Amino acid sequence: MADGVHLSPTYLIYSPDPQAIVCPYCRNRVITYVVNIPSVHTYIVSCLLCIIFCPLYWLPFVCASTQTRNHFCPICRSFLGSYP
Ligand SMILES: [Zn+2]
Repeated sequence: MADGVHLSPTYLIYSPDPQAIVCPYCRNRVITYVVNIPSVHTYIVSCLLCIIFCPLYWLPFVCASTQTRNHFCPICRSFLGSYP
């Protein structure tokens, strides 16, 4: 790179919970914070619940296990990875 900054990609396997890592962007040792975001899996489960038992269609949107968990650095706010 022209400015001499090179960030090597990290291929960590993230857990569903916050974890201690060295941020590849700001180089600080941090504990990630996790943001749950609905995924395709969330919408599929919600549609199935709507067909089977309509009053519970909202359940996948409040249940963390059916959503994608994105890890972010608490210092530089960079996206670090996701689970699953
Ligand atoms: Zn960082």
